[in-house]
Amino acid sequence: MKVHLYGGFGEKGRTCIGVECCSVRLLLDAGLKTDNCPGSVYPALSPAALNDLTAIVISHAHEDHAGALGWCLANGFKGEVWMTRETAQDFETSCSDYLEAAHKKSLQRMATRHFEAGQPLRFGDLTVTSGRSGHTVGGVWLAATQADKSLLYCADVVPQSPLLIMDPLPNCTVALIDTSYGDDPVPPAHRVRQVVEWIQAHPGACLLPTPLIGRSLELMLAIPSPISVHVQMVATLEQQLRQVSWFQPNTVQELRQRLANANRWQEGDPWPQQPLICHDGMGLTGPSRQLIPGAQADGVPILFTGHLPAGSPGEHAVKAGAAAFIRLPTHPTRDENIGLVRACGAARIIGHSCTELALEALRPHLPVSLELAKTGDRIDIQ
Ligand SMILES: [Zn+2]
Repeated sequence: MKVHLYGGFGEKGRTCIGVECCSVRLLLDAGLKTDNCPGSVYPALSPAALNDLTAIVISHAHEDHAGALGWCLANGFKGEVWMTRETAQDFETSCSDYLEAAHKKSLQRMATRHFEAGQPLRFGDLTVTSGRSGHTVGGVWLAATQADKSLLYCADVVPQSPLLIMDPLPNCTVALIDTSYGDDPVPPAHRVRQVVEWIQAHPGACLLPTPLIGRSLELMLAIPSPISVHVQMVATLEQQLRQVSWFQPNTVQELRQRLANANRWQEGDPWPQQPLICHDGMGLTGPSRQLIPGAQADGVPILFTGHLPAGSPGEHAVKAGAAAFIRLPTHPTRDENIGLVRACGAARIIGHSCTELALEALRPHLPVSLELAKTGDRIDIQ
């Protein structure tokens, strides 16, 4: 089995892994990059390689994992795209604002096939299995197996999510783990407390930009006080809360109640005298694009809680001291990754979705040596 690292290694974004076995060629994810760093926005694979692909399997509907599907179709890919039904439901609302118009058009001819988390998919000699990731409703980790060789691709996972379920990882030969947070050791519960304390220290209006899927419901669960939700988010959040099998017990009812009680806010309304949740989480798309500069102009405090790509409005606001940042974990902390590495028994570990510097920091803590692979590298699993 040959594994091609087409994107997301030594960098955050454009996550994309090629798996080659006999005549089967798969992509696991096809993401795009939203920062303004030098280098390509899209995965590093040629039109000829796209044309040769059997299928693409998508882990979840975030743009850094699925936002390059239209680009793949516009550049020679002709196969099927596999994702869970829940990811397919969220894909358009979650990704479309990040896409170029031509790529959006290409998506009209996407042949989408659905799978259930845990249902094996067979492509020739290769079997792809999956499990719920705890990161988004519909989000999964993926494992590609041929005879006694297997590649585990964690994609984005949250091992101890109070909201969503993560299924145990299978044993594997090589694991590509989610190292988005490098060696960050702070437990999620501590971060939740910090977010709540920040909100309590800023009574009245405050703005909480967050992705449409993943982290919005986590924030709603974390904040004990009444909140406002941008009206454009409501239908998507309600849809996610209908997918009960992805949630931890007793959370759906609580969240449905909080969403039902939340004030629906829209442009033209005065700032609500309570936290306002709006999308996206970086200021690149959605109502956040206007609300972030608006809040800055009106002196409304802003708190970012997730990844801020270089050059994004969110990063600018934090760097300028005009907004606060407290990470609300939706990726593994250092200790969670130590646990994941032990659980999957992999002899080789490679981290995705962070810089080489962050990998170097995490490396001494892991029980198995972390390989410093970069986008463009190839790995042979013997
Ligand atoms: Zn994600």
